[in-house]
Amino acid sequence: MNRFDAIVIGAGAAGLFCAAQAGQRGLRVLLIDHSERIAEKIRISGGGRCNFTNRDIDARAPQRHFVGQNPNFCRSALARYTPQQFVALVERHGIAHHEKHKGQLFCDGPSQQIIDMLLAECAAGGVTHWQPCRVERVTFSAAGAHGTDAGSYQIDSDRGTVQAPRLVVATGGLSIPQLGASDFGYRLARQFGLRVVAPRPALVPLTFAGEGWAPYAGLAGLALPVRIECGQKKERMEFLEDLLFTHRGLSGPAVLQVSSYWQEGTPLVIDFAPGTDVAAALGAAKARSRKRIANELATLVPTRLADAWVGEEPTLQRPVNEVPDRALNALAERIARWQITPSGTEGYKKAEVTAGGIDTRDLSSQTMESKQPGLYFIGEVVDVTGWLGGYNFQWAWASAFACAGAMATVSPATALPASGPSAAAACV
Ligand SMILES: Cc1cc2nc3c(=O)[nH]c(=O)nc-3n(C[C@H](O)[C@H](O)[C@H](O)COP(=O)(O)OP(=O)(O)OC[C@H]3O[C@@H](n4cnc5c(N)ncnc54)[C@H](O)[C@@H]3O)c2cc1C
Repeated sequence: MNRFDAIVIGAGAAGLFCAAQAGQRGLRVLLIDHSERIAEKIRISGGGRCNFTNRDIDARAPQRHFVGQNPNFCRSALARYTPQQFVALVERHGIAHHEKHKGQLFCDGPSQQIIDMLLAECAAGGVTHWQPCRVERVTFSAAGAHGTDAGSYQIDSDRGTVQAPRLVVATGGLSIPQLGASDFGYRLARQFGLRVVAPRPALVPLTFAGEGWAPYAGLAGLALPVRIECGQKKERMEFLEDLLFTHRGLSGPAVLQVSSYWQEGTPLVIDFAPGTDVAAALGAAKARSRKRIANELATLVPTRLADAWVGEEPTLQRPVNEVPDRALNALAERIARWQITPSGTEGYKKAEVTAGGIDTRDLSSQTMESKQPGLYFIGEVVDVTGWLGGYNFQWAWASAFACAGAMATVSPATALPASGPSAAAACV
């Protein structure tokens, strides 16, 4: 039977980087993926230019850019592998890049460059690749069962059976199932008695069902900068980004960002003219102008939006100087604090990431090892979700780096005590 020092399941961002790092530290690593084409999410990321990290990451305050039951969990890994370290790697591979917006770093050329770089790093670490390869069963034998000091994982797959004392799960989340996403990581975790925070689509467009959306459906394609917020008091989050009207609802960076925090059944509040006192501007227009109110409003927001907002209300179909103050103020309020409650999201088909995942209470923030000795979880499969803008890849690199370093230096036998069944647990 084939034996390796570590088996990594999932050859996406986290799995490739972890395998490469572990291999370069001297471990014999097998990297398994069930897809014909690996790292597809890297290929399509950043509009094909891979937004591979973000310079603004603050490892001391991860809650600023990461969502999860315990955003502080990622502090240690983010501090030990920084955006600057990944940029240095990218530069060593001669990959030209640029900063776009709010610290976001993109390749100048296609995202494939990042995949090629990770594959070259894997080659430098002597990593063995099995792909496509379907994992049929994972079993764990406790220490000593195979004459080993530590426990041992056995993987039965359609390419044969392999064993290793360390198993890394880097199978990502549920978003974009057509690119190979699966719930493998969650099932494996549950099989070994680890907790899973209910997964949900995040960084996802929001939808609005029924008649209520009809007046806005005609705005599809309109994009504009907004301030968007959701939640109350300590839960309140706001973003200043671009919003896009779609046929079924709202999208664009503003909505994707807020979607990671939005709770079903609660409203969003949107300011279509951030930084402008719309009530004062309309009041001033009333004092000096006889133009129709839609024309005055169009100096503050895009014409299509002005027409749609005024078009709904008969009392606004007249020159601005004839509109009662109360109606003007109500219009200003609807521009500056439009409240609307989404009916749902576009789901995993359109979600950039999956929030929730392996409960960080069952993982070590230093090593990514779970309470099940020798079993590690990294990347998106963990309950750590970054903002739009390179944060999710940086989490993938940082968690992979922490895991690889730990595997090379720490014996799996020293793991936290297992909370669930440890011997001969199986997953198909
Ligand atoms: C359209 C889109 C654009 C994005 N753009 C960006 C961006 O620009 N910047 C950014 O930071 N993030 C971006 N993201 C998010 C980012 O791609 C992910 O957070 C990141 O890829 C997660 O890395 P991962 O290795 O954990 O998982 P993945 O990259 O999803 O890799 C998981 C791997 O596991 C394999 N796998 C799954 N199940 C099994 C199984 N049962 N057996 C074997 N193998 C399995 C899959 O085939 C896949 O190769 C984007 C996501 C999408 C969908």
